[in-house]
Amino acid sequence: MKYISTRGNIKPINFIETVMMGLADDGGLIIPEIIPEISSNLGQYKKLSYNELAYQIFKLFISDIPDNDLKKLIDASYSTNFDPEAAPLKKVGDTYILELFTGPTLSFKDVALQLIGNLFEYILEKNGGFLNILGATSGDTGSAGIYGVKDRKNINIFVMHPYKKISDIQEKQMTTVLSKNVFNIAVKGSFDDCQSIMKRIAGDIKFKKEYRLGAINSVNWARILAQIVYYFYAGLKILEITKKEKLQICVPTGNFGNVLASWYAYKMGLPVHKIILATNENDILSRFFNTGIYSIGKVAETISPAMDIQIASNFERYLYYKLEEDPCKINDFINVFLKTGSFKIDKDGVVDPLFLSDNADKKNTLNTIKEYYEKYDYILDPHTSVGIYVGNKLKNNDLPILNIATAHPAKFPDSIKSAIGKDIAKHPKIEKLKSQKTRCEILENDQNSVKEFMIKSIIK
Ligand SMILES: *Cc1c(COP(=O)(O)O)cnc(C)c1O
Repeated sequence: MKYISTRGNIKPINFIETVMMGLADDGGLIIPEIIPEISSNLGQYKKLSYNELAYQIFKLFISDIPDNDLKKLIDASYSTNFDPEAAPLKKVGDTYILELFTGPTLSFKDVALQLIGNLFEYILEKNGGFLNILGATSGDTGSAGIYGVKDRKNINIFVMHPYKKISDIQEKQMTTVLSKNVFNIAVKGSFDDCQSIMKRIAGDIKFKKEYRLGAINSVNWARILAQIVYYFYAGLKILEITKKEKLQICVPTGNFGNVLASWYAYKMGLPVHKIILATNENDILSRFFNTGIYSIGKVAETISPAMDIQIASNFERYLYYKLEEDPCKINDFINVFLKTGSFKIDKDGVVDPLFLSDNADKKNTLNTIKEYYEKYDYILDPHTSVGIYVGNKLKNNDLPILNIATAHPAKFPDSIKSAIGKDIAKHPKIEKLKSQKTRCEILENDQNSVKEFMIKSIIK
């Protein structure tokens, strides 16, 4: 399998180069040259364990890692780091909930970032060299990234978060990791400031090449690939249990990464009736699917902070297919969108008949948490609750629905307490953090302070 850029200006590359490049060198997103179709294999796939299925799916997209190495990478990623398995499926009321939060940092991001950590280490060991990962986080990506690469050889990770502007738990999940290759940076600014520092540093091609900067956010194709697996895993189980022909999938969305993985699964042949896209008050994506207009608003702070995003970095991948796989049209989109903050896609009627979309506000989110606790004795985290609310609103009752649980409720105890009146969202991994030592560098809000700190900390 070869990979290309949505903007059409890189030569086709293999999987290993794709993982190392992160964002394409032409500024686009890297995608596979073709999407493999596997409908005829689904009968066999439904009998496989999670790791076996991951191997079958990865093999379709990876032709430059030997089979045995690939198997070892999968086992190292999913066998002991998740408790008790990578993707437990629960039936709650009449919906299926896929609990993707049993990894080290209790969010679904562990599923992809445990794999990425192993991939980076494997590639660097094989090809030599080192990697300096620079990330910005408003919450879950930072800790999942840190746990993906801590203590690994030839890799440093620098994660910026806005000083005093993330939750105490999220901060502790990152700053209690004292490994030598982990550098937490609190920037005296907002999350947007952190992200713009990251973009400016990564856009300095000389610096990027000299210090071998790498990416762990969901522009990295390996993250999407890792997530395709669980849609097949859970989808096939649900179809087997319910004996239905098709299922609906509902995903709470921020950067459009997780929902994009479900779309790839559909394209590859998973029998999906509808993909239901759920947003919080930051509803640029649900507005797009309902009107065809992609237009940026102001980021609102909500109780599902991992979804407080206006420009979804993975949307360009979807748009590429929507615009007839034509890089010229993507470049037009980028130009118009950068200039005006808005883009309209020509449509007759619906933008994409596969998608349904709506948003949940704070009240909807808290009420749904309360309802599921009282009815089913099940605690939803606020992100998962956004998905459940919208899924229940839009679903077809004749077909099964798969909802993605993206975080453990213990990461957001205050929202749970305000929803159900009791402080009961606990997890031993979170309790343990409270007494641990922390390490963090506080820096001014400018890219040179961050660059200087990186240069000073890097051992080449
Ligand atoms: C990152 C995240 C999301 C959003 O996922 P995307 O792939 O960015 O759409 C939703 N919920 C939680 C808990 C997250 O950490």
